[in-house]
Amino acid sequence: MTARAVYVHIPFCTHICYYCDFNKFFIKDQPVDEYIDMLNKEVDEAFKGDEDNHSSLHSIYIGGGTPTALTTAQLRRVIKNVTRHVPDVEKNGFEFTVEVNPGEADVEKLQAMRELGVNRLSIGVQSFDDHLLKKIGRAHTAGEAERTIALAKQAGFTNISIDLMFGLPDQTIQLWEQSIDKAVALDVTHVSAYSLKIEKKTMFYNWYQRGQLNLLSEDTEAEMYDLLMSKLEKAGFSAYEISNFARNGYESKHNKTYWKNEEYYGFGAGAHGYLQSVRYANVGPLPHYIDILKKQTHARKDSHTVTSQEQMEEEMFMGLRMREGVSDRVFKSKYGLSYMEVFGEAVEELTENGLLEKNKEIIYLTDKGRLLGNEVFEKFIMV
Ligand code: SF4
Repeated sequence: MTARAVYVHIPFCTHICYYCDFNKFFIKDQPVDEYIDMLNKEVDEAFKGDEDNHSSLHSIYIGGGTPTALTTAQLRRVIKNVTRHVPDVEKNGFEFTVEVNPGEADVEKLQAMRELGVNRLSIGVQSFDDHLLKKIGRAHTAGEAERTIALAKQAGFTNISIDLMFGLPDQTIQLWEQSIDKAVALDVTHVSAYSLKIEKKTMFYNWYQRGQLNLLSEDTEAEMYDLLMSKLEKAGFSAYEISNFARNGYESKHNKTYWKNEEYYGFGAGAHGYLQSVRYANVGPLPHYIDILKKQTHARKDSHTVTSQEQMEEEMFMGLRMREGVSDRVFKSKYGLSYMEVFGEAVEELTENGLLEKNKEIIYLTDKGRLLGNEVFEKFIMV
């Protein structure tokens, strides 16, 4: 396999949200320039002697943390360095995304990104309700999110994705509906919508443990998901993945790399990558990442060679997340076996229970299967 995508992690934020367990650090007093020096070194070293892989790349994604917490000059350094290794960035169809936090990207920063080849933004809106934004620890208002979307359009971006969250404490069906309606009215091209998960090492986790967080019932979350599906599909978005919705032609190539079980580079503190059948994770803590790269050419702490059995399992439970499902033809071309030969029992049981459907050589989740995704996915893990 050859790598299809590049992920670059910028682990800095100007504030810390109550629900977030990503690898990120409050930016004040952090050695940001030194981090960029080491990040650029990691990128340079990985691409050295790996030229054959460059022509297969179809996307770059700079995420975080918050890439827009960097100054324009710092962001330029990161972008320029990664793109000098990927000449195809100029080609039609190449997808280059940067994550943006509302209120953190002014015209200058947005224009710099455009000039350097960025053609897609992923804006962390989360909600269009100020009270809810405050409640989850976001630093921006709904108005700032709207202004950032407007500025991005002025700067020439035509492919804009926004993130939304549901299942938030105090969120009503009506408030959720208003956020969906707003997303549609703002005419973005892509929506990623995730339900709140309470993760360890977050403020929300502490409050939850103390019984201070009123979470919504599973039924209400399911109702919110149904509403999301029906409203976005009516507005012309296709639910091409369980949590991702796109207007025609705007499905994210980068995200599909993960769901199609394809390989990708991962750069930066705490980043994950998948190359030559090896999944790896970089060291997360900032001083450790910087120190290790001063001494060596990469910052991998864990790596695992994915066995053929594991690859087949991943192919199924990641692929089934997509509406296009899993093709037996593709499966056979990768593993030399039909998915029925490997997972026949699970496929039959899930089909009988109305969670999977088959159309010729493709299997995909039914509506019920999409709601109960985890129940389906665990059937493909053979332990
Ligand atoms: S959600 Fe985003 S902005 Fe908030 S702390 Fe996490 S990485 Fe930073």
